[in-house]
Order: sequence, then C-alpha cells, then structure tokens
Amino acid sequence: MALSPERTVAELRELQELTGDENGAQRVAWTDTWQQAREWLSGKLAGTGAEETIDAAGNQWFTLAGDSEPALLIGGHIDSVPNGGWLDGSLNVMAGAEVLRRIAEEGTPPVTVRLVDWADEEGARFGRSLFGSSAAAGSMADQDELRRRKDAEGVSLPDAIARFDVDLDTALEARTELDSAAAYLELHIEQGPVLESLDLPLGVVLGTFGVERHQVTFRGQAAHAGSTPMDKRRDALAGAAKLELELREIAARVGEGAVCTMGGVVTKPGIVTSVVETAECLLDQRHLDAVKLAEMLDNAKAVSRRFAQEEDLEVEWERIWYIEPIVFDGRLIELADESIREVAASSHRLPSGPLHDAAEVARAGVPTVMLFVQSLRGLSHTKLEDTKEEHLELSVQALDRLASRTIDTL
Ligand SMILES: [Zn+2]
Repeated sequence: MALSPERTVAELRELQELTGDENGAQRVAWTDTWQQAREWLSGKLAGTGAEETIDAAGNQWFTLAGDSEPALLIGGHIDSVPNGGWLDGSLNVMAGAEVLRRIAEEGTPPVTVRLVDWADEEGARFGRSLFGSSAAAGSMADQDELRRRKDAEGVSLPDAIARFDVDLDTALEARTELDSAAAYLELHIEQGPVLESLDLPLGVVLGTFGVERHQVTFRGQAAHAGSTPMDKRRDALAGAAKLELELREIAARVGEGAVCTMGGVVTKPGIVTSVVETAECLLDQRHLDAVKLAEMLDNAKAVSRRFAQEEDLEVEWERIWYIEPIVFDGRLIELADESIREVAASSHRLPSGPLHDAAEVARAGVPTVMLFVQSLRGLSHTKLEDTKEEHLELSVQALDRLASRTIDTL
C-alpha cells in the first residue's frame, strides 16, 4: 500500500469524533481524554513494526529501526486546548503516522525513523507550553516553579503528571531521546492568514520569532481636569499614545515581518476628572532576526524617551519576558521548498509567530524544519479551525516527499 493522504483526513475525523464534542477538541494533556487519544494512536500504528515507548517526560515515541543509527524524527502533539480545533497538533501526528506506515511497508529503512507525539505542547491546564519537547531539548529549567503550579480545580502539576508516571526530578532524562536525532520535521497548520491571502496551500517555515516583551511606564502628574490648563499638564497617557502610534513606523522601518503590539495600557488614577499620572503599557515586539529585534527595541526605547521629554514625563522600561529567535536549518529549508513545489504549484517562505515544539528541538541543535499548510480565515484554538481537505492531503504528500529527501541526505 502506498501513501494514503485520504486516510489521514479520515483518521483526523475519527479522532475528533472520539475525543471532541460539540464545542471542539478536548484532548487536554494529562487527562483521560488525552490518554484515550494516545491509545488510539498506538492502535493506528500497531502492526507497522514500530516500537512504542514513553520517555521520562511523557513523550510518546514510535521507532522504526533502520539499517543505521541516525534517526529522522517527525513530530507533533496530539494534545489540544479545551474547545480546540481538529487540526492543531493532531495533523502533524497523523501525517507523520501515515509517512511512517508508508516507510515501514517498503521494508527496513536506511536510517531509523521515529514519530514523536510530544507531551503537553499547549500548556492548557497548567500554563506551561512545550513541556515534553523542552524536557527532551534540555531547555526546561523551571521545575521548581512548576512544582507549585495548580490547575483550575486545585490539582498540582506534579500530581497530575504522576498519574502518567512522569516526575519533574527525572523528566530531563528525556534528553537522551535526541542523542541519535539527525533531522526533525514537523508539519503544522499555519494558524494565521498569510498562505490563504497568497492563495497558496503550503509554505516553508524559516524559524520562530524572537520575542521582547516589556512593561513601559510613563509617569506624569495627576491634576484636576477642570482647573489645569492644557499647556500645564504632565499627561502620562499622551506619552503612551504617541508611542503606540509610532510602533507602526518602527515595525515598517525594520521590516522583514517585524511586528510590534501594545497589548494593554493601564492608566492611573483612571478617573474622568483627572489628568493621567501613570500609564503602564504592555509592549510585545517580534522578529526572526535577533539583530533586527534588538534594533526594534532600541528604536522604541529612543522614541519613548523623546516623547517623555516632549510631554514632560519620566519613562521606565522593564523586561517581562524574552526568547531568542530560532532559525531553522538552511539545507532542510531548501529540501522543504523542493518538496512543496513537487506537490503544489509554488512554495512560500514565512516565519512562525507562535512557538512550536520544533523550536525546542532546533534549540537543542538538531537540524529542523517545519511545513505550514493554509488555515482557513487564519483561525486556530477554536472549533472553527479548518483547512480544505485537498490542502490537508497535499500537506501529507509534501511531508512524505520531504521525509524521503531528508533520508537520502542522512
Ligand atoms: Zn500546535
């Protein structure tokens, strides 16, 4: 039997039937429904000769031993957010399962091929995304903090994961899983509007954005809204408003996909009869290039100081969170482009705004690339998430071609 992309679509519908309800997918990690989905996946791969194992971080592996040691990894996550879509994560896993079956049917592959279903990519229950992949990549460093986390029902993270034989003290032992990894491939829905707007089914992901997240606080002086003349005010919101609008210019100037967002502003005292004394702004800046990201941040800091001066304010910056950009492997990007052009008319290269398990694997030094397939209306993390069936089938074909091409190079 050859590759059957139609079977992937049918299996995704079957999984949705089994583990979803009228509100969407309910495969939240570390729950019975998640476990049910994983057992169902085992059944789908029974008889392929792939050996199933669960590592110390709860990641589910299917290993098809090859003639040589280096391993091609294909990954995804079967967990979903509550009321999630039918494709986020599970497309990756089921397309990978189809490719694994195709390879298994052709006899012993020249290299080892492994499918991994990462544990708790979404972080929906405990707010810690990329749990399994960060453990395997060795970048998980927040165990002490994770020990204190509880879900909405008051169940602690250690208790929830203990039910699946996972322990924070030993989770990092999953690192050995990447020892033999020679390449990592992941297919995912785009979860954004770019490919749809270009009318293209598939694209190659160049990497994941680096993020600079800051709180920017402008300070002025509270004063009576009636008695304070306009030219005597120190209005903190004026500084924030100028910065908000200038962000568009900064992003445009830096270019190459740069995005800047002022996601929130809290004003104090926040009453209609007072000039604003403090404006606390939440700023998120993203870029695929670390130098450009730093340039964008410097630009924003410089203009904020200029606006503060113009408005007679003080301004303070505090970093809330930072993650470096992760750039995928150049050679695999080329192979992915060729694979896409083989099954669809043309390809497109784009960065990923959201983080993915692939970023953790790349960070661990494994050559990595991702394929994106078009998302309708750019929607995800909702039951409205969807992709045309013909595009899903093309995506399975592209992943299969990419797997073959990659094996040839290992
Ligand atoms: Zn996902």
